[in-house]
Parts: sequence; C-alpha cells; structure tokens
Amino acid sequence: MARSVLVTGGNRGIGLAVARRLAAGGDRVAVTFRSGRPPAGLFGVRCDVTDGEQVDRAFKEVEAEQGAVEVLVANAGIARDRLLATMSETDFGAVLDTNLVGTFRVARRAVRPMMRARRGRIVLISSVSALLGTAGQANYAASKAGLIGFGRSLARELAPRDITVNVIAAGLVDTDMTSSLTEARIEAITASVPLGRMGTAEEIAAAVDFLAGPGAGYITGAVMAVDGGLGMGH
Ligand code: NDP
Repeated sequence: MARSVLVTGGNRGIGLAVARRLAAGGDRVAVTFRSGRPPAGLFGVRCDVTDGEQVDRAFKEVEAEQGAVEVLVANAGIARDRLLATMSETDFGAVLDTNLVGTFRVARRAVRPMMRARRGRIVLISSVSALLGTAGQANYAASKAGLIGFGRSLARELAPRDITVNVIAAGLVDTDMTSSLTEARIEAITASVPLGRMGTAEEIAAAVDFLAGPGAGYITGAVMAVDGGLGMGH
C-alpha cells in the first residue's frame, strides 16, 4: 500500500534522489523546499526547518494532501566550513540549528501521528564526519554526531510503537554541497575511500529505501555507513 512519505530538503541533491526513488516504488511522496519551485512530479511544501511554525504548517499541508506522514526522511542540512579559530558563533549556531535542531523540530512533529498509528519509519541523514571528525567541520560534525545520539534515543523511545529510527552516515556524495570542493581536495579525500570514488545521491537513496522498506523491519538504532568504506571501523 502506498505510504505517506515526507523528505525534508527534497528539492535537490540527496533529498530529491530519495524522494524520486520512494515515489518510483509507489509511495505518495512530499518534499519540503525553501525557495523557488518544488521539483516536477512531487508534492512540495514550502518550509524552513529552522522555523517551528513553518514545520507545523508543512505537516498540515502534507496531512491534508496524502495523510499523516508514515515515513520521515530528515535530510535538510547545511555546511559552513571553517577552522575553529576563525569560526563565528553565528556559523556554528546556524549549522546546529538547521541540521540538529531542525531535525528535532521535524521529528517531534512527525511522531505523534506515528505513535497513534503504531507504525512509522524515520531515517536521519548524518555523515561520516560525525564518526571521523573533519578538520574545518567542527560545527557540521557536531551536528551530525548529535543526530546519532538523537536517533538512537528516539529508537528506544519509539520501538514499543513499532516505529524504527535509523541513521545513514553518508560519505562524500556528488551534490551542490560538495561542488565547491576543488578537484585536488576531492582526489585527496577519495584517496582514503576504499572504493576510490565519491558516492552518488542515488546510492544514498537506495539505502534510505531499504531502511524505510519492509526488509528493514527488525533494524532500529542503526548507523548505516554509505561511504565507500571511508569510515570503516568507526
Ligand atoms: P544540498 O546542498 O544539495 O541540499 C541541501 C538540501 O537541504 C536542500 O534541499 C536545501 O534546501 C535543504 N535545506 C538546507 N537548509 C534548510 C532549511 N533551513 N530548511 C529547509 N531545508 C533546508 O546537499 P546534499 O543533498 O548533499 O545534502 C543532503 C543531506 O545529506 C544534508 O543533511 C547533508 O549534510 C547530508 N550529507 C551530504 C553529504 C555530501 O557529501 N553531499 C555527505 C554526508 C551527508 P534549499 O534548496 O532551499 O537550499
């Protein structure tokens, strides 16, 4: 049966690939977008995850269109890379507010209907940076590591209602977020990736599809690395 899915930040990059994959599998998929227009063929709701009222409004629109959200993919995220010595409090706070607190806002709004329905799937998009640390990404790595503690706590809270919560620790993926990296930097990073290349948004989407699907019914609180082996052992 078609499920009601919401993907935050689903207008481009990994979120869009996830939305398209789940829609192709027969789900009713809504995406959030902040500006511009929603992607063709998907139901779009305007929402900035740093604003709780916008989050609530977005959920109401999705609920009216396709019913209560049964699968939430918390994907919206930003990076503002800088070495700590020159990192402003604004840049630290903005990354935490979007990646971690934004996920809290969205997940909190999603869980009540899931708890009533006694079923649900939540997938959080974290990063290998959370596990390895990355110079220049203290804010980003802290936000993504926070998602792991957040997700595992939710997994315990929500397991009695048959709601699973899992985290994907994505490696270096070819999207707008990484488009500003120089070729030399990409080569330096991929030299440490056992599979020797960047990942694609579709490869992350395939893992989300699995975690949201029937084959993953006994998986909760997991951190699944989709990183070409970069974070192996962490
Ligand atoms: P993109 O920069 O391509 O896309 C980011 C998405 O998040 C956009 O849809 C953007 O919306 C949305 N977004 C950002 N801030 C907000 C906000 N305040 N409210 C609502 N939406 C927001 O990045 P990716 O597709 O690469 O990243 C997707 C997720 O994957 C992120 O959480 C990222 O941290 C994570 N990730 C990415 C990796 C990579 O190498 N690319 C590696 C590991 C994790 P808008 O278009 O309006 O800006």
